[in-house]
Amino acid sequence: MNALELARIISGVKNLCPAQKWEEGTPDMWEKVLAGTNFTDAKDAVVELGKHQSFIAPGEIREKALRLRQDRVAHVPMPVPNHTPGVSEGDEIRAIERAIGNGLISSVAEAYAYERWGGSLHLAQLRGHMPQLEGPAPVGNPKAVEDFIAGTFPRRPELPREIAEVLARRRPPGTAIACPTCHAAPNRRCHAPATRRHPAGRELAHAHPSRLETWAVAQVACPTCSSPVGAVCTEYGRPYVNGAHRERIEAATN
Ligand SMILES: [Zn+2]
Ligand SMILES: [Zn+2]
Repeated sequence: MNALELARIISGVKNLCPAQKWEEGTPDMWEKVLAGTNFTDAKDAVVELGKHQSFIAPGEIREKALRLRQDRVAHVPMPVPNHTPGVSEGDEIRAIERAIGNGLISSVAEAYAYERWGGSLHLAQLRGHMPQLEGPAPVGNPKAVEDFIAGTFPRRPELPREIAEVLARRRPPGTAIACPTCHAAPNRRCHAPATRRHPAGRELAHAHPSRLETWAVAQVACPTCSSPVGAVCTEYGRPYVNGAHRERIEAATN
């Protein structure tokens, strides 16, 4: 916060709390206490505190500002970091977290706009030139936040079936069906369990084994146990305990 911003904070407090006493050294003390606090956060904090208090101490502003920032980070879903050559994923994730903390990304629509924008916030912050992340919220989804977190958020519009089929053939084998392990929808990649950084779970390069096996069973008969298409593999007259025979999976993938 610079001197001008500090002056604006102080004048805001004076307006909201006309009875508050000010002495000659007070602004210096405020400057020290609020040194590391972001101006926008402090302004929001003053507005919040002013609703209920007739006296506002700088320490209260600092604490409230920190809490507002933590709330933002906790409540805005983390978008999948855009990939930019030369920028590490870690740097991009930290840049996204800063952007959420600063309120640049403050809603699902803005997280979505970040992904559509496709650029690097890390580079934007280094250059001091931030993008305008605006745009429509994802359509037709009243439970957008929950679905986003659950990983079923419609990141892209639905594709015509013919195109989806062509793309599906380029996806890892097995992804044409839903995954029994991670519950990825058909034609979506499998994902790892959700983490704080990846609320939707990081996408995996390969399908989960159970998905690959279920898919292979539906595709081809087994060359090893002769189970027909759609019937599970067998061994000694019982279902094969290891899912599907390796030869069947190979036959389905080739
Ligand atoms: Zn899976
Ligand atoms: Zn078999």
